[in-house]
Amino acid sequence: MISHGHAGPCRSKLCHKFALYRVSVRGFYSSIHSQPWLNLSVAVRKVESSGRDGYNDWMQKVDVVIVGAGPAGLATALHLVQRDSDWAARIIVLEKEAHPRQKLCGGGITPFGLGQLHQLGLTLAVPHERVRSVKISYLDLEVDFTAEPAVAVVHRPEFDAWLAQEARARGIRIRENCKVTGIERKEDGMLVLSTCGDYLAAVVVGADGSTGKTRRWMDLHRDSHSASVLEVFSAPQKATVEKGERAQIVFRFDPALDDVQGYFWRFPARKAGRPVYNFGVYDARLYRKERVNLRSVLDMELDTDPFTNGVGPVEGSPIHLFSPGNILAAERLLLVGDAAGVDPLFGEGISLALAYGKVAADQLAVAFARGRFHFRDYRRRIFFSPMGRYLSLRWLIAVVGYQIAHSRLKVRSLWWIVRLLVKREPRSYT
Ligand SMILES: Cc1cc2nc3c(=O)[nH]c(=O)nc-3n(C[C@H](O)[C@H](O)[C@H](O)COP(=O)(O)OP(=O)(O)OC[C@H]3O[C@@H](n4cnc5c(N)ncnc54)[C@H](O)[C@@H]3O)c2cc1C
Repeated sequence: MISHGHAGPCRSKLCHKFALYRVSVRGFYSSIHSQPWLNLSVAVRKVESSGRDGYNDWMQKVDVVIVGAGPAGLATALHLVQRDSDWAARIIVLEKEAHPRQKLCGGGITPFGLGQLHQLGLTLAVPHERVRSVKISYLDLEVDFTAEPAVAVVHRPEFDAWLAQEARARGIRIRENCKVTGIERKEDGMLVLSTCGDYLAAVVVGADGSTGKTRRWMDLHRDSHSASVLEVFSAPQKATVEKGERAQIVFRFDPALDDVQGYFWRFPARKAGRPVYNFGVYDARLYRKERVNLRSVLDMELDTDPFTNGVGPVEGSPIHLFSPGNILAAERLLLVGDAAGVDPLFGEGISLALAYGKVAADQLAVAFARGRFHFRDYRRRIFFSPMGRYLSLRWLIAVVGYQIAHSRLKVRSLWWIVRLLVKREPRSYT
C-alpha cells in the first residue's frame, strides 16, 4: 500500500524526510506486486500535495473517486462498468467501514428500486420478505394496494454487502476501512485525502450518505434539510408468521395529529435470517415548528400496535431530504443518493440511491467523452429522469400534505390525492 508517513524514529527533519521517502517508495513497489486491484494504468506520481507536515506525499491518480460504498456509490460504479467494462480500472470506491457494515434502515425496496436492480442485470439474492400488500391509513381513512411484490424488505447490512460483492465481481475496486478525511480542489483535479492514501481524481462522486462530509467540505450544504427517524426491531412472532399475517406493510399517519410531519411504520423484516418486525417513526420536519418528542410518539404507537412482542433498542438517524433547491453538483463533483437528497414524503432512499447512480453514470460518461467537468446539466438530467419525476411528485405531496396533516378536515378532503399517488406506483418491475 502506498505509505504516507509513519517512518521509524527520527530526530532530525532531514532524516525524517528521507525515511518518509524510503517508506513511500517501498510501499509503492510492494503495493504493485501485492494488490491485485492496483491496475497499472492508474498513474502514480509525486506531487506537491496539501503540504500537511510540510512533506511531499505519494498519491494515486484516478479518473473517478467514489466516496461511500452504499447503494448510491455502488450503483454509480456498476452503471459505469455496465456501459463499458474499461471503467472498472478508472474508478475507485472508498468506504470507511467494511461490509457487511451496520446500517440503520427499514430495508424496504419498492418496485421502482427492484426495477433499478433489474436494469443492472441484478436479481435480489439476499434473504428478504416479499410483501404483497401495503396499507396507508390516517385515523379511519385507509387505502391499500397489492402487487407482487409491493415491497421487498431486506436487511441492509446483507443487501449492501451483496451489492458490493456484485460490484467486485465486475472488476470494481472497493477499498474498505478507508475513510475519506478531506477533499481539496486543485488546479488539475480533486485531491482526496483518506486513511488509506491520497488520490488525485478528475471527478469525485459524493455518495457518503446523509451524514457524509463531502457536501460540507465542498460548501454545498446550504439550506439542506434533514428528517428525524427512529427505528426499532421486535422479536419474531411465530404465531403470526405461521398465519401468514406478515404479508403487509403499514404506514400510519395518525402521529400527524401530534405535529409529526410523517408517520409510524411497521415492516415485516428479517434479521440474521430470522423473521422480525421493524417499527419506526419518520418526521420530515419540513416546517420548522417546535420539535416533537419522537421517542414518546414511537412509544405510544408501539403500545397500540398489535404486533409488538418485546422490542430491542431504539436507534435514530437523520435523513437528508431532497428539495428542488438542493445543490447537486459543482465543478468536478457530483452528489448521489442521500448526499443529494431522498424522498421527503416517506424518506424512501434505497431505490432512489440506485437510480441516482444511473443518472450520475450517464453524466460522467458524457463529461469524460467531452473532457468537461463543470456538470452544469446534472440538475436537468436528474429532474428529467424517471427518478427525478418520482422524486418531484413525492416532494410536492410532502410539501402540501405535511402542511395540512394536523387538520383532520383538510386531510379528509384531500384523501383522494393519496389514493392517486398509490395508484401511480409502478406495479411490475421484476
Ligand atoms: C431509520 C431509517 C430507516 C430507513 N428505511 C428505509 C426504507 O425502508 N426504505 C428505503 O428506501 N430507505 C430507507 N431509509 C433511507 C435509506 O437508508 C437511505 O436512503 C440509503 O441508505 C441511501 O443510500 P446511500 O448509498 O446514499 O447512503 P448510505 O447507505 O448511507 O451509504 C453511505 C456510505 O458512505 C460511507 N461513508 C460515509 N462517510 C465516509 C467517508 N468519510 N469516507 C468513506 N466512506 C464514507 C458510509 O460508511 C456508508 O457505507 C431509511 C433510513 C433510516 C435512517
